[in-house]
Amino acid sequence: MCTLLVNATMIAMELKSPEEILKMLEGYRKIVLFGDSGCAQMCDVGGILQLEDMEDFLRQNGKEVLGRIFVEGGICDTNNIRQELIKNQEMLERADAFLIQACGVATQTLTELMPEKESFPAANSKFLGSMPERFVHEERCIMCGDCILDLTGGICPIARCAKGILNGPCGGSMDGKCERDPDTDCVWQLIYDRLKALGKLDNLRSIWKVKDWSLARGPREIIKQET
Ligand code: SF4
Ligand code: SF4
Repeated sequence: MCTLLVNATMIAMELKSPEEILKMLEGYRKIVLFGDSGCAQMCDVGGILQLEDMEDFLRQNGKEVLGRIFVEGGICDTNNIRQELIKNQEMLERADAFLIQACGVATQTLTELMPEKESFPAANSKFLGSMPERFVHEERCIMCGDCILDLTGGICPIARCAKGILNGPCGGSMDGKCERDPDTDCVWQLIYDRLKALGKLDNLRSIWKVKDWSLARGPREIIKQET
């Protein structure tokens, strides 16, 4: 038997509109851009090219871009970003604001590390997802705090069922497709097929308990014990 351990996750995000970005930067002239080689680059939001494009766009709209900081790894990793902050200290001190072409966590990380400056989000973080092909992002997880993928053959009904049904299907599924969108697979059909292939259809015999949504409410944190 082959077991795959998947250790990569990606926060799917998209850039806000140019109008929104200009509006949030009203009153700020000297800007520093941040991007990273993690989720931001994977989502074509904060890769090197997107930082260059943003610099051009802002310059054309009367801003002075002092520099671009492209962080190897994620901006959300404070170890990564701290080094960049030290390296670029003089430039950062001259800036009026930072524009973060990455997820909401990255923006909050910079806000916490450099509270004397304002950090603005250039992107909308949408969900935790997989990336089946370039430019396509599909929702896979809403970070519910109580993962049940072990029961469902590794397919999430919480994020992928239009009704979030825990003991599906809902009865509207037709030919394996979701009643809300005939182009989308009914996730409960996928789960059934998967469990059947795994010889685990018995998983569906019991009624699963109502989910404890208190686990999905923020603010949440994870504190790892040192080993
Ligand atoms: S069950 Fe919860 S944690 Fe697991 S993939 Fe689905 S939404 Fe995410
Ligand atoms: S058809 Fe399937 S995926 Fe669509 S809402 Fe019903 S159970 Fe959920």
